[in-house]
Amino acid sequence: MKKRLFKKFIAPLIDWIYPPRCLVCEKIALFNGYLCHDCFFDLEIFGKAPHSFEGEDSIIDEVSSLYKFNNVMKILIHNLKYNGCDYIGTFLGKQMGIYYKNTSFKDYECIISIPLHRIKKDMRTYNQAEKIASELSNVLEIPMNIDLLKRAVFTETQTKLDQEGRKKNMKGAFKIIAKEEIPSSVILIDDVFTTGATTSEAANTLKEVGVKKVGVLTAATPFFLRHLKFVFEMDDSEEIDDEL
Ligand SMILES: [Zn+2]
Repeated sequence: MKKRLFKKFIAPLIDWIYPPRCLVCEKIALFNGYLCHDCFFDLEIFGKAPHSFEGEDSIIDEVSSLYKFNNVMKILIHNLKYNGCDYIGTFLGKQMGIYYKNTSFKDYECIISIPLHRIKKDMRTYNQAEKIASELSNVLEIPMNIDLLKRAVFTETQTKLDQEGRKKNMKGAFKIIAKEEIPSSVILIDDVFTTGATTSEAANTLKEVGVKKVGVLTAATPFFLRHLKFVFEMDDSEEIDDEL
């Protein structure tokens, strides 16, 4: 009852006195509480495999990123990861669910978010990929499994490493905990797809214990065009760390 009263009368009153501001441009953001109308429509749907990760010999069976990592997305991901805005994870998970509901991704047995090491999770208080995965699980009606895959080691930040370096850095980064129930197919969820080093290592760990099919979905990727790889490495390397 109290909750309903808050939702119906008190929350709108607070919004009226202190209207929420857009995380990107700081205009009043009554559109969805944290993005104004204009910035919301600046989000660019990509919905394909990031360019750097199309290969038949890949350990990952299919991969797709919903949005292009443009300026609006960059601010959203930054706030999700470093400013405690966990609701952005819920928003992204919902958008992904709506987009992928009628694709091959609806046929997987379970959803697993890329786990953070316990120390990193304690520092941040939540795992941003888990926030995305949890809402995606609701929309796709595919259960989430948070017990199977864990972080084995505390890996250093990857922003300064190239593709090969990231691959080496991630070797042996994950471990399997609950071996008795191995799903046949898994969607791995992460916030941003960069070189694929993290998701590949996680997919490899899952396949070693008998998972047959691993798909990867991420909220965004900067690798939607060949030439952007270079631009991204020059400009955004401080912002994107697929290890965090
Ligand atoms: Zn805005």
